[in-house]
Amino acid sequence: MSRRNTGNKKIQKSIAKNRIQRLFRLAEEHALCDRFELSDRYVFLARKLSMRYLVPIPAKFKRRFCKHCYRYLLPGSNCRVRIHRGKIVTYCRKCKRYTRMPLRDISTKSKLNKKC
Ligand SMILES: [Zn+2]
Repeated sequence: MSRRNTGNKKIQKSIAKNRIQRLFRLAEEHALCDRFELSDRYVFLARKLSMRYLVPIPAKFKRRFCKHCYRYLLPGSNCRVRIHRGKIVTYCRKCKRYTRMPLRDISTKSKLNKKC
C-alpha cells in the first residue's frame, strides 16, 4: 500500500503548494468582505495540506494567521501589529495573545551573509 504513491511525491507536493497559495488568496478575499468564518476554514485546510504533504507554508503567509488559535489575521480589523525592540508584535483580538517575530527576515539574512 505504501509503495503505490512513491513516484508521484514531487507532483503531489507541487499541487499541495499551489493549493495552499490559492487557499490563502481566497482567505484574504473573504476576510476583506468581512467573512472571517470562510477565511478561517481556508487557513485550516491550508494547514492540513501542509502537514499531510510536508510542504512548508510560505513565509509571507505565515504571518497571516494566529499561531495560537489559527484564525486568519487582517490588520486593522481582528489583529494589531506593532514594532517593538526589533520584533513585529501581533496581537490577536480573538484569543487575546501575542505573537513575536524578528523584524529582519531569515531570507534577507541569508542574502546578507552571501554578500559578505
Ligand atoms: Zn489568536
